[in-house]
Amino acid sequence: MTDTTAAVAEAALPPYSGEHTTCAKCRNIGAVTRYRPAAHWRVMTELNGRRRPGPQPERLERECHRCDYQWDEALPADDRADGGLTVDQLAHALDNCTPYRIELHPEIARFMAERLAEMCAVYPVPGHPVWQPEEEPPPAVAPQDPEGPKGPKLTPEQRAGAEAIIAEQQQETDR
Ligand SMILES: [Zn+2]
Repeated sequence: MTDTTAAVAEAALPPYSGEHTTCAKCRNIGAVTRYRPAAHWRVMTELNGRRRPGPQPERLERECHRCDYQWDEALPADDRADGGLTVDQLAHALDNCTPYRIELHPEIARFMAERLAEMCAVYPVPGHPVWQPEEEPPPAVAPQDPEGPKGPKLTPEQRAGAEAIIAEQQQETDR
């Protein structure tokens, strides 16, 4: 039997945020890093003075220099061990920077992320919602029916007439 719990927990860890990370509690910059091996489900671990049950994935435990707040982070995903975001993480962040509830085309997000990674090193803020596992999207809202309860009820003749007017206007604009 495969233990998928640890794998799921590992996927949920925020990325390693680098040497000059910002504490989510006191906003101080800089934290201690300690390696923690994966823990079996029967092993209790401690974080911020609270005991918590396993399983825990292999991880890096961070501790704020100033207020001792602790949090877990994933091991660096690649050789950018300075904690700068990977291209995939940058693309994810960019996709969450759009001003409207629209998704960036994945190819565009990736292209921008690659250019950005060439120009600068971007570090994640621990605890920011963008690095938390995504929630289920709210149920899609059904498109409004123009003839719904609020709109006037059209007879088939009126409807045909309205469609003819719309088609005429469309021709006007096409010209
Ligand atoms: Zn702190």
